[in-house]
This record gives sequence, structure tokens and C-alpha cells, in this order.
Amino acid sequence: GANGRRFFVGGNWKMNYSKAIADVVNNALNNTKDVDVEIVCAPPALFIKDVVASKPAHVQVAAQNCYLAKDGAFTGEISPEMVKEAGCAWVILGHSERRTLFHEDDDFLKKKIDYVLNKTDINVIACIGETLQEREAGKTNEVVERQVKAYQEKIANDQYSRVVIAYEPVWAIGTGKVATPQQAQDVHEHLRQFIGKNATADVAKSIRIIYGGSVNGANCKELAQKPDIDGFLVGGASLKPEFEQICKARQ
Ligand code: PGA
Repeated sequence: GANGRRFFVGGNWKMNYSKAIADVVNNALNNTKDVDVEIVCAPPALFIKDVVASKPAHVQVAAQNCYLAKDGAFTGEISPEMVKEAGCAWVILGHSERRTLFHEDDDFLKKKIDYVLNKTDINVIACIGETLQEREAGKTNEVVERQVKAYQEKIANDQYSRVVIAYEPVWAIGTGKVATPQQAQDVHEHLRQFIGKNATADVAKSIRIIYGGSVNGANCKELAQKPDIDGFLVGGASLKPEFEQICKARQ
């Protein structure tokens, strides 16, 4: 784009997979080959290899989570090295469902991003976002600053090109209640300044900050016009034909 940041759209499939879903998504993405957008799909770990085998060539694949060791006695976990071997270029860290349902906190996520960035060449979609209660208490900026700062403690200035920040207000995830373009823009603009203060002005200018929370084919265009919204992390609508329109939101 004009600001030098390539538009980025991630599809977070969460705990959903069938061959029929993969077919729908592949059909949608077959129509995005010539679009200037970076597209990443994140299926459940068991099906990463199926998606790697069936996706269009221009689409990348992400894991939804990983642990912070190469191998060992960590029942139920998968390592960043395994994620890489399965064909992923990306991993999502710190999704609000990981934080809320599986008790992942800033300290744990800081260790995960440290491992992924320093022990592998995998890129990271690092998620943050306030709850409704925190927003209503006027604490949005305070919360997202704390969350992003935890990641930043482990990101060297030359590693920011491997990181996309996903701002996903918890109250907008899976609720159909999308943040207004201005609400999202305000937080993204604030985050960009804050990230720059902890890193460099160049990092502030180049880091991609994407929005997530009830993005769909109908609301994506208006959000995509905001200057500090560099793309989306999409849940529900990433499994539907409208994912094509979302990938084309900046066109
Ligand atoms: P949603 O989920 O698009 O279904 O609201 C977004 C996310 O959790 O990444």
C-alpha cells in the first residue's frame, strides 16, 4: 500500500475443519491470486498438512498455537519446529481464547514469542485486546499497552518484520459486534505510537497492526480504509465464500 505496509489477512479456523470447509476456502482464495495481499490460513494443527497440500500457492499457513520447546515431555503440545516442518510460515500467539479458556498470560506469551523468534524462522501473529469490562472502565489503552509491551520485551528491532500485531477486542470476537472503524483506528494509532516508543520510528511506520472481531464481507471495506488498519484476523467469516471479499477489502 501507499504506506509501505502490505495488507495482511489471516483466517483463524479455530476448532473447525472438514474437507468441505477446506474446499470452500480454497475456492474463495483461488480468486485472490493477483491481489496485493498477504493471506494466511490457520487450520487446527491436525489438518495443517492437508491444508498445505490443498491450498493455492500464494496462500501461507499458520498454526493457532505452539509450545516453547523443540520436543520433550509436554503432553498435548506441539513445538514451533514441528509447526515449521508441517509447512507453516506463521504461528498465532496469545489469541483471547488461549488467554481466557487456557489461562495463557503475558509472561507465558513473552516466553513463547522469544522462543519462536530466536529459535526458528517462523513469523508471529501476536494477539492482544481488551474485554468489555476493561473498555467500559476506560482501560483499553492501558490493557493493550501491557499486552504489547510483554511481546516487545522479546522482539529485537530487526525482528519486527516477522511480527504482525492483531488487535482483537474480546467483546467483538464471535459476537457479531464489530468495533466501529473509528474505535479500531483509535486503538491502532495509539498502539503504533506506543510500539514505536519501545522500538524505533521505523518500526512504528512498518509494523502491521491488523484488526479482528466479527470482520465480514460487509464491514471489511470501511475498516480497511482506516490509515492504521493494515489487515484483519478473521474467525467465522474465514470459513465462508465471503473470505474472498475480505482479502480484497483494500482493492
Ligand atoms: P470472529 O473471530 O471473526 O469470528 O469474531 C476473530 C478471531 O477470533 O480471530
